[in-house]
Amino acid sequence: MKLLSAVVPCYNEEGNITDFYVEFIKNESFFKRKDVELELWYIDDGSKDGSVGEIKSLIEKDKRVHLLSFSRNFGKEAAIYAGLEVAKGDYVVFLDADLQDPPALLPEMFGYLEQGYDSVATRRVNRKGEPMVRSFFARMFYRIMKKISRTEIVDGARDYRLMTRQVVEALLSLKEYNRFTKGMFGWVGFETKWLEFDNIERKKGETKWSFWKLFIYSLEGITSFSTAPLAFAAFMGVLFCIVAFGLIIFTIVRKALFGDPTSGWPSLVCIISLISGVQLFCLGIVGQYLAKTYMEVKNRPIYLVKEEI
Ligand code: UDP
Ligand code: MG
Repeated sequence: MKLLSAVVPCYNEEGNITDFYVEFIKNESFFKRKDVELELWYIDDGSKDGSVGEIKSLIEKDKRVHLLSFSRNFGKEAAIYAGLEVAKGDYVVFLDADLQDPPALLPEMFGYLEQGYDSVATRRVNRKGEPMVRSFFARMFYRIMKKISRTEIVDGARDYRLMTRQVVEALLSLKEYNRFTKGMFGWVGFETKWLEFDNIERKKGETKWSFWKLFIYSLEGITSFSTAPLAFAAFMGVLFCIVAFGLIIFTIVRKALFGDPTSGWPSLVCIISLISGVQLFCLGIVGQYLAKTYMEVKNRPIYLVKEEI
């Protein structure tokens, strides 16, 4: 008998917990035929609503349901990492609690593992029902990432993934504090099958990702998987040195040939303010990496557990 663990990060999802369970357990007979048992881990990411109560009442009815509750909100990435640690299955799958990752797709995904793939990933082919501005910036992010990172990060990729124990162990071996799972999946490699589906809107409750939170998350993605911004800062430095050198020669030659009296503080002010702007910007980039390094060096735990059932 093999075991499949489903890991579901939940943050204020009281309305979705039972609905999710019902949808998920519909796969029971399929997996029974395959000699695979199921377990379901709800990772409560410090919910402030009745999510934990909902999960506990499910646990009373079904022993295959488990709960890991954080001491506060640590973010979805932390919840995914915790799920990797607690899930005991030979196969592990991540799903969102809001049913945007349809559990009905699991049998098809499992089929690919049987064919020999190490992991089965999903991407949505459109962003139907999402605000236009958000889609636009999301597309931009993936386009930039493609250019500046050697790790493959797929546009529209969801965290809905089914993988073998081997891939789980690989992901667990990445112990970094600044986690950007979408990139880590690409980084660890392995044979991955991509499935596509249309975007499904969230069933109940609201999205936990504000535009600002997503923006910060995208910076996380860039700094975690690329050092291109640092190279850019260095490039700006070299560029301005060359320009400055040219200007010096120009000024000397002009003075020697035409005896031009020194005039032009307007141009001086422009140059100084432009260059100090660029300098501060580049300093900011360096600061971003420094901050990330600082957080890594502190070596704090990625999450803290309040309760495990
Ligand atoms: N989530 C979480 N911690 C957070 C934010 C979200 O565990 O700090 C969970 C959330 O409960 C859901 C999943 O991550 O199961 C995806 O979140 P959401 O649906 O809000 O994101 P969206 O689908 O809008 O990108
Ligand atoms: Mg969602």
